[in-house]
Formats: sequence, C-alpha cells, structure tokens
Amino acid sequence: MSDTAQYGFDTLQVHAGARPDPATGARQTPIYQTTAYVFRDADHAAALFNLQEVGYIYSRLTNPTVAVLAERIATLEGGVGAVCCSSGHAAQIMALFPLMAPGRNVVASTRLYGGTVTQFSQTIKRFGWSAKFVDFDDLDAVRAAIDEDTRAVFCEAVANPGGYVTDLDAIAGIADAAGLPLIVDNTSATPYLCRPIEHGATLVVHSTTKYLTGNGTVMGGAIVDSGKFDWSASDKFPSLSAPEPAYHGLTFHETFGPLAFTFHGIAIGLRDLGMTMNPQAAHYTLMGIETLSLRMQRHCENAVTVASWLETHPKVAAVTYAGLPSSPYADRAARICPKGTGGLFTFALKGGYDACVKLVGAVELFSHVANLGDTRSLIIHSASTTHRQLTEEQQIAAGAAPNVVRVSIGIEDARDLIADLEQALAQL
Ligand SMILES: *Cc1c(COP(=O)(O)O)cnc(C)c1O
Repeated sequence: MSDTAQYGFDTLQVHAGARPDPATGARQTPIYQTTAYVFRDADHAAALFNLQEVGYIYSRLTNPTVAVLAERIATLEGGVGAVCCSSGHAAQIMALFPLMAPGRNVVASTRLYGGTVTQFSQTIKRFGWSAKFVDFDDLDAVRAAIDEDTRAVFCEAVANPGGYVTDLDAIAGIADAAGLPLIVDNTSATPYLCRPIEHGATLVVHSTTKYLTGNGTVMGGAIVDSGKFDWSASDKFPSLSAPEPAYHGLTFHETFGPLAFTFHGIAIGLRDLGMTMNPQAAHYTLMGIETLSLRMQRHCENAVTVASWLETHPKVAAVTYAGLPSSPYADRAARICPKGTGGLFTFALKGGYDACVKLVGAVELFSHVANLGDTRSLIIHSASTTHRQLTEEQQIAAGAAPNVVRVSIGIEDARDLIADLEQALAQL
C-alpha cells in the first residue's frame, strides 16, 4: 500500500506494508523462508554491502516477511521506520545500543515490567551501562536524575503490572529540554490505545509477543523511530552523527536523515548483535495485528467489567486499573489513552501473600502463566514469579507488592471470567 495517510487505523492494521506478492500475486504475505537472496551480479552485491542500494542480502539483516511487519508497526505507531527483532527484551537492548557507551546511563521509571528492571539494574552493567530508577510522577526527581552521562529516558506508556499511566507529555518535555531521546515501551497499551510519538516519544519499543500477536504463539520485538530526533544537535550520539568505521566512514544521520536510527538498527544492530526475528514469527504476528483494534476493544470492555466486580468483592482490598473511575490515573488515562487502558491490572487480597498463591492455584478458566496480552485470560502472582528477583521495595515500587495478583483479561465472555474468579475467591 503506497499512500497510507488517508486510511484509518482499522484499515492500516490489515493493509499497511503489504501488497500482493510481485511474483505470484499471493494476497496474503508469503513466509519468505530463506536465509539468503541471489545478487544480480558482483556490482549489485557490492552496492548492497555498501548500503548504497537497499535490498536483501541475508536474513540476519532483512527478510521480506519481517519487512512487512516492520512497516506495519511503524505505520500504526506513526513512525518513519521500524526494526523487528527476536523479543521485547532484544528490542530494549537494540534501542539503547546506538545511544549508550561504557559509563553512560539511562534514566528509567521505577514502574516497569519485572524483566526490564532486572535487565536494566543487573545485565546492562556488563556493557558498562547503568540505569537510574526514578518515580516518574516526581518530575523534579526525573530532571535531577539526568546528568552529563545520561543518553536516554525510558518508561512504559501503561506500566505493567500496576495500572499506572505515564504522563508522556511531561516526561517528553523533560527529555527534550535535556537534548535526550525518550524511549517508550508501548507493549501493554498498543498503538490502538496509545500513540506515544504523538506525546513526544522519540522511539517506541514493543514486545510483539503480547497484544500485537495476541494469541500467545511467538516471541518478537520491535523498535519504531519517530524520525524526529536530531542526532547531530550534540556530540552525545556519535554512533549516529559521526563517521562509522564499520562502513568506510559513512555517517548514518547525514546519509539516511530521519531513517538513521532504523538503518543503524539493521546495518549495525541486527548485523552484529544478531537478535533477528524469523519470518515464521513475523507471519504469526502479521496474522494477529489484523484484528488488533477488535481485540483491544474487547480486552478493555472485559477488564472494566471484571475490575468493577472485583472492587466490590469483600476479600479484595484494592483494584489497580487505570480504566476505573476510582483510579488516581483516570484523568491522565483519558488524555494519554482515551480509548481504554488495556486488559492488564492488579488486585490486592486482604489475605496477603498466601491468599494470592492459593488463588492462582484455584482458578480454572484463567491460566496461571507468565505472559500477558493473550486472547485467553491469564493470572499470576508477580511477587513470587516475574518480580521474584526484585527486592520487596522494588516490588512495591513496580506495583507488584506481595499481596497483589496480576491478571491479563482476555476476550472471553466477561460473565465466565467473573464466575471463575468468584469460585476461586470462595476457596480462600
Ligand atoms: C513481555 C514484556 C517485555 C519483554 O518482552 P519479551 O518479548 O518477553 O522479551 C518488555 N516490556 C513489557 C511491558 C512486557 O510486557
């Protein structure tokens, strides 16, 4: 599809990036299950390797099925380009990689997916990078945390698991004033509910494993570039603004303009880190994305129904869902994600840790798994699983206190979900 500007979201989620296969006319995007692509001749091969011509060389870098998915996600997010990769965690490393260097830091929200807290607080230290975690509701603290060595600001639009909505406009303003890119993980909201670039995000990362695929089948990630950041405005981002020795002194920003980050992600990121998405995964995710808006509407409706019911249950101490009028984030949610806040929320049990562990064992329709964004409803006790590596203080800051259960509400009949929770709560 060439000119996508006039189409609405529901049309773009089906069509963006795809066209009938030029060789066969196949209407559905074929799975190009190939490792390599035949060069026309030696000059063609040399031009491709020099990045003078865009084309396919080897599937660690690019693959036509994966390219359709990248274009579709970029279009839905309102970005200029995207790179797909092997998982959401790979996307986070690939987003930081061109920005960071030994001694540099990222200022990150305390309210993040548990695995991200671990990746940022432990593993990135091996690269000489570090993260400073701050409460993103305390804007002065965010400003104060930024120093000479900061190279990025990182948060989730709707933070997993606590039903927290980040004030993206305010955080983007702070990043902008400091000359830094804002990276927003939009996994739990999806571009149907929230478009971070419209609120000032520079880059948007996704775990496509979750709602974009939508049915719990394949792992994947994506990094979308807004194309709006001026990488040459300071000398902070030499990977993008200075000559690259690995490409005969080519300068990414000068050569590729707004697509610099995307080209760097493929030509350096995928080439050398190798966190490539495979075409089968791209196929499943393309299938899923076609129904994204329909699923998200139902996820939101069901989550409101189930959360409202839980709020009145005598064994429930609190429900944390930004989609409820009682949420302290209700006003912010109306501004940042007006169509709804997704299917993810937590609730606290009066019975504490033990009651939570019992509840996840007593449900029948809900699946007890470490995943979210599936058509099926899922439940987990974060403190003993996904957030287990965190200290209790970090667990509470992340919205995963020991007395809290997280649910990812699916697209089943809300009535059946309530009945399942009711019978499980009755067993406590
Ligand atoms: C799952 C998830 C990730 C990590 O993605 P993987 O695909 O599991 O690597 C990152 N951020 C958020 C918000 C997630 O839900």
